[in-house]
Amino acid sequence: MEEQQNTESTATEQQKAAEEAIKAAQEAAAAKKAAREAKSDKVEGLWDCPYCGQKGIGGLTKHCPGCGHPQDNNTKFYLATEKKHLTEEQAENYGKGEDWDCPFCGSMNRYDATTCKNCGAPRDQAESTYFTRKQEESGTQPVTTAAPVSKGPNKKVLIAVGAALLALIAILLVIFLPRKSKSTVTAAQWQRVIYVDQLTNVQESDWTVPSGATVYDEQIEVSGYVQVLDHYEDVEVQRSREVIVGYDEVEPDYKDNGDGTFTEIENTPAPIYDTEYYTETEQQPVYRTDPVLATKYYYTIDRWIYERSVETSGNDTTPVWGEVSLASDEMESGREGVYVLTFSTEKGKTVSVQVPESLFTSYQIGDTASLTTSGGTVTAIDGVAVR
Ligand SMILES: [Zn+2]
Ligand SMILES: [Zn+2]
Repeated sequence: MEEQQNTESTATEQQKAAEEAIKAAQEAAAAKKAAREAKSDKVEGLWDCPYCGQKGIGGLTKHCPGCGHPQDNNTKFYLATEKKHLTEEQAENYGKGEDWDCPFCGSMNRYDATTCKNCGAPRDQAESTYFTRKQEESGTQPVTTAAPVSKGPNKKVLIAVGAALLALIAILLVIFLPRKSKSTVTAAQWQRVIYVDQLTNVQESDWTVPSGATVYDEQIEVSGYVQVLDHYEDVEVQRSREVIVGYDEVEPDYKDNGDGTFTEIENTPAPIYDTEYYTETEQQPVYRTDPVLATKYYYTIDRWIYERSVETSGNDTTPVWGEVSLASDEMESGREGVYVLTFSTEKGKTVSVQVPESLFTSYQIGDTASLTTSGGTVTAIDGVAVR
């Protein structure tokens, strides 16, 4: 009874083990299949056969299907428009090293081949490989040297600008270069004023009392205002920030492996930004305007205040001051004079010039003088500056 049970359980276990083994084998096969079919980062390049003219032959097809010629030292690989990815399994044998050219028959051979698969010659003497050949070919192309193209026009522009500047300087010189002209004094005009102040008792008010004042009233008044922090307020503030909303698809780069394949190099996708607006609550201070109080004084005080003036004038070059008789509460507060000479120039033009007193009195009507003119105005009379 017991033994039978044992046999039975053993049979179940055996069955179970067998099922597991099958399952494992199936999984392994599936994995192998997946690996065989999985897309790798390598794509198949294309080449053209120069012997029979067939174009777009797959890089993994080592002999031309048209004429049977092998890939040789004339073969150049290029990318197809529609990229055909190698499976992971295929890719294992590619991208390890560039092909070399047989020095005897010219056929291309894998990086790890020691003898030519076409003629059996040893690799030892192979000097050309896929990339050294490509480099030599591009090296023989005429080198384009950067020609000094931009120099010509630049020079022309410089000359034009220089000429324009010179012309401008010439014009300015013509206008502002001092010119002298012989002139005659045809008229003179002078005016003199003496100002007289009177000591007067006036009413004033201020926040302080000046010496000599008699205060007759004082009051508490607003002398100014001050900004005082009152409280803080929640304020909604509009803000913006740049956020990534997606990525731009970027075409990958392809590196020629020199064996009929290219390796795809992913480029980092470029992020697409957009401006996002949002509101934020911010604490902002609120100020209050408070008056500042102070004592204001009202007082009377004696001040010298303009009262009258004594004026004289004439049309000669001998000016005189007016007679001033001052009362006990009067004071002279200043004197002013204006002196103008009028000239008739060589060309018959009439020019009036305000001059200093000393210059004015040194001329008489009918005298001749040399006027220096610059930019249309008289700058000197007989060498004495008037401006
Ligand atoms: Zn061919
Ligand atoms: Zn060979």
